[in-house]
Amino acid sequence: MAAPLLLYGGTFDPPHAAHGRLPQLAAKAIGASRVVWIPAAQNPLRTERSAPPSDRIAMLRALLAGNADAEIDQRELQRGGPSYFVDTLRSFRAEDAKTPLRFLIGADQALQFRRWHDWESILDLADPVIAPRPPHDRLALEVVLEQLDEGQSRPGWWRGSVLDLPLDDASATKLREALSDSDEAALEAGIPESVLSVIRDRGLYGRSNA
Ligand code: ATP
Repeated sequence: MAAPLLLYGGTFDPPHAAHGRLPQLAAKAIGASRVVWIPAAQNPLRTERSAPPSDRIAMLRALLAGNADAEIDQRELQRGGPSYFVDTLRSFRAEDAKTPLRFLIGADQALQFRRWHDWESILDLADPVIAPRPPHDRLALEVVLEQLDEGQSRPGWWRGSVLDLPLDDASATKLREALSDSDEAALEAGIPESVLSVIRDRGLYGRSNA
């Protein structure tokens, strides 16, 4: 069978080290031929406002600058409005009918996957790849996913998809909190320096070069 294409959606507000590292580890684990980062215009399950798309792209480019193979796809930004991943998958499928598609999500999204718009159609189009995330290591995550299946449709949708990857506590929420304090707090919280530099140049999250 042909090597799959790994799609990785996110808000990337701001991007952090796990956003760069996890897709690469996941791609290796599943033998993907390519990874595509797909910034959302608006995450339908998120109420806060995000940094503007052009700024999130600039930060993501800075994060991925050392990875010559990294591809950033802007179709959700171009589409605008709530970014329903099922639409994104359909558009990839329309471009290439053959390559198997997989999509990478972290444990927090796996735990709320049945809230995603038309999630069953998503599973008809692509198989998931799930990264453990604190506080859930692989085993703990599988136990909770199993409990959530009870009485629901498509039980076991996640089975065989949870990767055995090291836990990574990077989080955009944590970084936004640290950024609201100081550059030093953000660096201590693990913001990549290249991303902080874009944040300062563009005056994002209340930070600046001044
Ligand atoms: P926020 O804290 O604002 O919710 P985030 O850190 O989860 O942001 P997103 O852009 O929402 O960042 O993440 C994109 C995808 O990457 C999601 O599927 C999320 O679960 C996953 N992800 C992000 N950080 C990690 C991490 N540290 N470990 C595993 N998965 C992660």
